[in-house]
Amino acid sequence: MAAINSVTDLTREGDIAVLTLNSPPVNALSAEVRTGLRTGLGQAIADPAVKAIVLICAGRTFIAGADIAEFGKPPKGTPLTETEAAMEASPKPIIAAVHGTALGGGFEVALMCHYRVAVPSARFGLPEIKLGIIPGAGGTQRLPRLIGVENAAEAILSGTPFPAKQALQWGVIDEMVEEGKLREGALAFARKAINTQMPLRKIRDLDDKVRAARGHPEIFEKIRRDNARRYRGFEAWHGALRAVEAAVDLPFVEGMKREREEFLKLVTSDQSKAQRYVFFAERKVWKITDVPDDTPTLPINKVGIIGAGTMGGGIAMNFLNAGIPVSIVEMKQDALDRGVATIRRNYDNTAKKGRLTTADVETRMGLLSPGLNLDAVADCDLVIEAVFENMDIKKDVFRKLDQIAKKGAILASNTSYLNIDEIASVTGRPDYVLGMHFFSPANVMRLLEVVRGEKTAKPVIATVMQLARKIGKIAALVGVCHGFVGNRMLHQRQREANKLILEGAMPWDVDRVIYDFGMPMGPFAMSDLAGLDIGWSKETSKSSTIREILCEMDRRGQKTGAGFYDYDEQRNAKPSPVVEKIILDFAAKKGINRRTISDDEILERCVYPMINEGAKILEEGKAQRASDIDIVWINGYGWPVYRGGPMFYADLIGSGKVLGKMKEFEATMGEDFKPARLLETVAADGRRLQDL
Ligand code: NAD
Repeated sequence: MAAINSVTDLTREGDIAVLTLNSPPVNALSAEVRTGLRTGLGQAIADPAVKAIVLICAGRTFIAGADIAEFGKPPKGTPLTETEAAMEASPKPIIAAVHGTALGGGFEVALMCHYRVAVPSARFGLPEIKLGIIPGAGGTQRLPRLIGVENAAEAILSGTPFPAKQALQWGVIDEMVEEGKLREGALAFARKAINTQMPLRKIRDLDDKVRAARGHPEIFEKIRRDNARRYRGFEAWHGALRAVEAAVDLPFVEGMKREREEFLKLVTSDQSKAQRYVFFAERKVWKITDVPDDTPTLPINKVGIIGAGTMGGGIAMNFLNAGIPVSIVEMKQDALDRGVATIRRNYDNTAKKGRLTTADVETRMGLLSPGLNLDAVADCDLVIEAVFENMDIKKDVFRKLDQIAKKGAILASNTSYLNIDEIASVTGRPDYVLGMHFFSPANVMRLLEVVRGEKTAKPVIATVMQLARKIGKIAALVGVCHGFVGNRMLHQRQREANKLILEGAMPWDVDRVIYDFGMPMGPFAMSDLAGLDIGWSKETSKSSTIREILCEMDRRGQKTGAGFYDYDEQRNAKPSPVVEKIILDFAAKKGINRRTISDDEILERCVYPMINEGAKILEEGKAQRASDIDIVWINGYGWPVYRGGPMFYADLIGSGKVLGKMKEFEATMGEDFKPARLLETVAADGRRLQDL
């Protein structure tokens, strides 16, 4: 065994050299790894006794990607291009032996090799797109040559890894070897390569797969058309596709240049900065300053859910999916039946799409015990209340739950706005009470706001955070305040949107600006989807807002075929002349002189007050860090990940600019725009919110 450097060893098995990388935890392509790879390969190639080379990794995985910490810093160590040149000039076959995940630069290194073998559990992928960049070491040029344009485009544009079985089918790997016997399998393959004088197969020289697409630009047009919605706004997506096109249209070397150009443009882009920031934000969000990682957690083996309405049913599915039994309790049989039927219908639909087997559906439904008696949750470790949004009703439920639930059981509320401390106060265990604010649809949306009450115990917080991870959510810890983080900020946007349509804009103007910014829909389309009548009642309605007027006319949103928009049978929205007239009449009655409102003003009026509210949330300690707020907005409301979240966006455009506009608006429009103290401070110090 010869150590090449601190992370690389070179050994010999007869006439086969084995180059082993060992850089925990994931053998990322750091400067040290790149140097070890280059030096080790150089020695093996130069050794006359060596006839073939196996590249393998120690630990839990093959090279799992670039070293993200190096991004944006001056390059160090041996560049990968040198290794690539050495591999391509090698007169001896090089075989990559893959276990774990060969991702990004790791997969690209494997593609530089002449052959690849892998164990069945291995996975391959080019996830660069998720960081707003594209593969930069030949991935966009080699993969299409190996597996064809459509398959390569899907892998590169989605960034989703694929399993070894798929890799074998596509010819990404040349042989599958027995699980746990990678080294032996790779050595046997190398021996075969020597004995049968297998050719030095360089992917760069393959042409048949890309030739098939040459002169057929319609293939790329179709990819663009089919994915227009899915990747709306993502610059990297277009760059990646242009690079794949180059693999078809240009010689390898020219294609590599095109890939490089696209890569360099993207790596310094704001979008990539935003996406890298989000990558780290998603990891930081789990860290709680005063609840260390080793805080003891409580076992959660059974969950109770109170209320089988829109939220209760969706929440239940999260646990059923994770194999955790659920008792769901309703007030009346018909509500219970409806709730359970909805859960089953959701599962059946998933099964119809082939994403669940019917056996899976039955297993999950088998874990669900519906009932009408609260006593059913007596043996649950966690009970989540999802009844009507009404303090008295919730208090009544919690009082009862406190009596019924076993000692040590956690009681959570899914309330959207109500005060968790007040709810906790009616129980004898306020330290075991907290908020678990799921987003609708709760079985789909990734976000969970974990609301920490004044008295919530640390192990309870640690338990719920851990559980959130187990059920595939991303959880942000927030404090008690009206609407917590997400809805509290949303309120700012909604208020301005409502004002804007009286001052001069139309709902579809506001929605277009917000949609073009990258949100999935604007505030009025969102209201129509949710239903305008949430929290509205006929008895108290006094035509005092546009929304009230619409509800009184039974224009209550998509479900009634009309709201702010008119809808056809396919639920396509059309601007409504009726609504336009209602707005104009209403504004006139209020004596408002309507004016032309620019798109810039719409955006600033909607977004800057949100940022300002975010600053207040930080100031009050209702969120731990700016990036947690961004996680909430990206995962709960569809804020475009390439804009990093509202707080990152403020840092990007400059908090001084946001502050300036807020002051300007405050001068003409008053209180609603009063700048947060924290916004003033960061703007004055030139600091970034994300660094606080
Ligand atoms: P919903 O009206 O669809 O469901 C509430 C259910 O609770 C009803 O089926 C009702 O019969 C049942 N219920 C009421 N009192 C009960 C009791 N004492 N015991 C047992 N069951 C009882 O409402 P929803 O939209 O599911 O909202 C539930 C909670 O979730 C609310 O606090 C709401 O603010 C919150 N929430 C809603 C959303 C959303 O988008 N709908 C999102 C996040 C949070």
